[in-house]
Amino acid sequence: MRILIVGPPGAGKGTQAALLSEELGVAHISTGDIFRAHVEGGTELGRQVKKYLDAGTLVPDEVTNAMVAQQLTEDVCRVGFLLDGFPRTVRQAKVLEALLRDRDCEIDTVLAFDVPEDQVLKRLLARGRADDTEDVIRHRQQLYREETAPLLDFYADRLITVPAVGPVPEVTSRALDALRTRA
Ligand code: AMP
Repeated sequence: MRILIVGPPGAGKGTQAALLSEELGVAHISTGDIFRAHVEGGTELGRQVKKYLDAGTLVPDEVTNAMVAQQLTEDVCRVGFLLDGFPRTVRQAKVLEALLRDRDCEIDTVLAFDVPEDQVLKRLLARGRADDTEDVIRHRQQLYREETAPLLDFYADRLITVPAVGPVPEVTSRALDALRTRA
């Protein structure tokens, strides 16, 4: 199974992606987690991307795309994966299509996590990540609306919308049920 998770900041994508990938036995690839690990580890890549993460803006495509290309090996394509945080723009989605075509695989399903924007601000402020200040959150929400939400149309033929409000286990079961219905 090859799945994308799309949703606004604070929709619980990361939490759900970890639980779902475990349950489904596929690789969890989170571009945000990988970037954060590099920042924390003080690597060259970490030094390059820190300012973008701190500001809540997108890391330049050449850096992000190269990192994703490295992660999506033929083995990972064969086993299956859940991609969390990429693509974030239609431009990145087109790069992903080409990359997967080269590896003879494609995305089966796109899970769109749906959550009212006014409910996520509190949740994010409580999480307390370095990029979870109110200004940066608002900027990430705006970026989501302008750059990422158009992906819902781009993937309309493979889209499953999951209401992401409620306790974590309930949202996980909702997503798993939706995936089973599709399979
Ligand atoms: P996330 O953990 O998905 O909220 O991502 C945290 C930060 O990592 C974002 O605000 C961006 O700075 C960067 N990032 C993650 N994924 C991407 C991507 N696909 N393209 C560009 N920047 C990204």
